[in-house]
Amino acid sequence: MLTKRLPSGERTLTILDRVDLSVEAGEFLAILGPSGSGKSTMLALMAGLDRPSDGRVLYDGREIQSLSEDDLAIWRRQNVGFVFQSFQLLANMTAIENAMLPLELQGAGDARARAAELLGAVGLQERAHHYPAQLSGGEQQRVAVARAFAGSPALLLADEPTGNLDGVTGRAVLDVIQQLRFERTTVILVTHDPAVAALADRRIHLRDGRIEREEWRTP
Ligand code: ADP
Ligand code: MG
Repeated sequence: MLTKRLPSGERTLTILDRVDLSVEAGEFLAILGPSGSGKSTMLALMAGLDRPSDGRVLYDGREIQSLSEDDLAIWRRQNVGFVFQSFQLLANMTAIENAMLPLELQGAGDARARAAELLGAVGLQERAHHYPAQLSGGEQQRVAVARAFAGSPALLLADEPTGNLDGVTGRAVLDVIQQLRFERTTVILVTHDPAVAALADRRIHLRDGRIEREEWRTP
């Protein structure tokens, strides 16, 4: 059970309130909820980017918040891919250089070839040498998806990855996420979009920092 509190002036805000969640390897989970309900906070806790006020985050039985900052960074690099809403591509690097980053951090020898392959998979082989500013929003988002998958993460965390995109482009980004899922890649995706959430195995609805409702995809 996770709780996250933050000081706010004289008072304490409870951002997440005793949230209890376990996710199976290979599951595709969607997190829904109104703005401010705690979705991004939950993702940050699962990535070890933030620490809970109470409770534990376990990954393969390992308590991630008890890792040192260095070990946490190594754990993240080896296990986790992110897709942020705001892309967070590096502006002075081309698409392929952005996609290569996690591979280079892992010390992979074939970073360029693997990044090229992933850019091909998201339909951007022709754009590999373009800088983010030369790409549309949907293209930038696809580079972000390619980068997130580059390190072959066991866990993909995506915070409203289709949030800035129109319906068709958003759907294309989602298709790419689904196509690139390796066997047993776990996907946890925050979204506002019911059509996106409908593709998930399970949907949880957050409200005011609590899980209000949980639904499974009907077969
Ligand atoms: P969501 O992603 O569902 O929109 P967030 O997890 O970003 O929600 O935020 C949940 C609540 O916590 C919001 O009310 C937000 O204002 C508050 N919050 C998040 N981060 C901070 C922070 N660093 N300081 C103060 N309040 C925060
Ligand atoms: Mg958010």
